[in-house]
Amino acid sequence: MILMKNIIREGNEILRKESSDVKIPLSNEDKTTILEMLGYLFNSQNDAKAKELGLRPGVGLAAPQIGINKKIFTILANDLEGKTWLLAVINPKIIKKSKEIVYLPGGEGCLSVDRETCGITPRHKQITVEADLYNVQTGKTEHKKFSLNDYIAIVFQHEYDHLFGTLFVDTIMDEAKAKKSGMKPLWEE
Ligand code: ZN
Repeated sequence: MILMKNIIREGNEILRKESSDVKIPLSNEDKTTILEMLGYLFNSQNDAKAKELGLRPGVGLAAPQIGINKKIFTILANDLEGKTWLLAVINPKIIKKSKEIVYLPGGEGCLSVDRETCGITPRHKQITVEADLYNVQTGKTEHKKFSLNDYIAIVFQHEYDHLFGTLFVDTIMDEAKAKKSGMKPLWEE
């Protein structure tokens, strides 16, 4: 089980490396890693479990954050329409990005960043990606091309950045300045 003590924190070089491509079909070891990462997200979003285990809630977790420099990340998040997205993403490539830039009002957070941060992280409103998706139900991996918008696109870009050694704090900027330059908050606060 992944606990907070297993999460690599800012300052550790592991978070700054570019991760390696993963061999498909996935090894049993990689499958286990994915299930453990999703397990963390599930537990962290269950109030009682999170309290019991001392977990910070998370909607995404990338393999480098648990010390594995492989191009794998997981997402468990609800979009603004209330649809739940469960994604186990392997070897992703963002192949298209919208010009329109949005941001999460109040800024992003990260399980690997403990300090208070101030500012927002600019993200593309829409992205088209190509990736191998691991289906936890069938145990199979499928190569897919798909587009994401808004909140899930932001989460995806945050996790994607982890695979290239980038943290959300690297591109953080003043929210008022962002608004002035035409970037849009995902919702009005
Ligand atoms: Zn993060």
